[in-house]
Amino acid sequence: METHLADFMRHTSAGREAEEILRRCVHCGFCNATCPTYQLLGDELDGPRGRIYLIKQVLEGVTPTEKTRLHLDRCLSCRSCESTCPSGVHYTRLLDIGREVVEQKVPRSGSDALKRRALKTLLPRAAVFGAAMKTGQAVRLLLPGVLRAMVPPLSSAGPAPKSRHARRLIALAGCAQPSMYPNINGAARRVLDRLGIQMIEAAGAGCCGAVRQHLNAAEGALDDARRNIDAWWPLLESGTEGLVMTASGCASHVLEYAHLLQDDPDYALKAARVVFATRDISEVVTAEAAGLAPLLQACRPLPEQQRLLAFHSPCSLQHGLKIRGTVESLLNAAGYTLTAVADSHICCGSAGTYSVLQPAISKLLLDNKLAALRAGGPALIASANVGCVAHMQGATDLPVKHWIEVLDARLSSLILT
Ligand code: SF4
Ligand code: SF4
Repeated sequence: METHLADFMRHTSAGREAEEILRRCVHCGFCNATCPTYQLLGDELDGPRGRIYLIKQVLEGVTPTEKTRLHLDRCLSCRSCESTCPSGVHYTRLLDIGREVVEQKVPRSGSDALKRRALKTLLPRAAVFGAAMKTGQAVRLLLPGVLRAMVPPLSSAGPAPKSRHARRLIALAGCAQPSMYPNINGAARRVLDRLGIQMIEAAGAGCCGAVRQHLNAAEGALDDARRNIDAWWPLLESGTEGLVMTASGCASHVLEYAHLLQDDPDYALKAARVVFATRDISEVVTAEAAGLAPLLQACRPLPEQQRLLAFHSPCSLQHGLKIRGTVESLLNAAGYTLTAVADSHICCGSAGTYSVLQPAISKLLLDNKLAALRAGGPALIASANVGCVAHMQGATDLPVKHWIEVLDARLSSLILT
């Protein structure tokens, strides 16, 4: 696509990147076919091709309006379009650049601005978010239905393994996960322990930065990345094997650190090393398949009525990390039969803070997703990202678990001789 960027963009690094991305797009529209918002709303401007065109216009100097901002706000950043695009257009990077410019030119006001400020302030701070979650959990049964759906019952991380191993991986505690679903990292710690790997957490690390990145607070997101790198660096330097992410959303964002910090002379090289050392938990467990197989063989058989499982692959896993089939194979090996799920490439509507900021579209996607997941009559739904787990669990009585919790529960049924 031919571009003529306006002076305010042309000589910036973001402008050069945007131009390169725009030039790859041939405007074919294949991406619209797999875009959840285009499918639901049927408006060209609520699909990737239309949004690319809107961003191009803004970067070329056309003044954006609130309507421009709304079409960009409605994007889930799910990256389904990137999986479909035959030209390799890095759409979400262009979206981030476009959103930042539009945000500056069309400032928000009223409740929209307030809501976003509150999310940016509260969510990435694990201690503040944790205190708020604890309060919510204490009065959970008194909360109105919509709020109650967002607050999972109080739970624990389960027993922590006592063994020490030479092989160590640094896990990210994250922001919302420890207070909402502490058992996810608890389960990861136990599974890795059985595989001879010790999972540790670095003091000082926190939110991966995805929350602020998606709320158009790019500088805040970079601060999150730098703070995490500072916390991880001494451990990486002292021989820790690498990093393991238990939320695919965090894995997907941490793998962007090298790109996001490429112009930062103090962090560019460190960020590249962090990216090189980072793996999603599904990759880590799959790499240990030889050690896992005998453990699974020693498990008690799954009761017949518990065998059917529906897996929801988060967008961050299948479109962001391009990991497909890996978790499914692990669940199969653990004795589960996976049900067929229609439109498995489509987002569940969680998408970071999307369910709070675009509740109507999010609810439609959630209803469609749960109907597709329930269709095969599963006893259990599994996913790979805390946001998806929380979003779906708030709207169904079927248990929704992170797949590592499912594997941990299976391994705890080992028949010890
Ligand atoms: S982003 Fe890709 S699929 Fe979509 S219009 Fe452009 S080239 Fe076609
Ligand atoms: S990121 Fe998702 S919602 Fe946004 S344009 Fe692409 S497919 Fe559509």
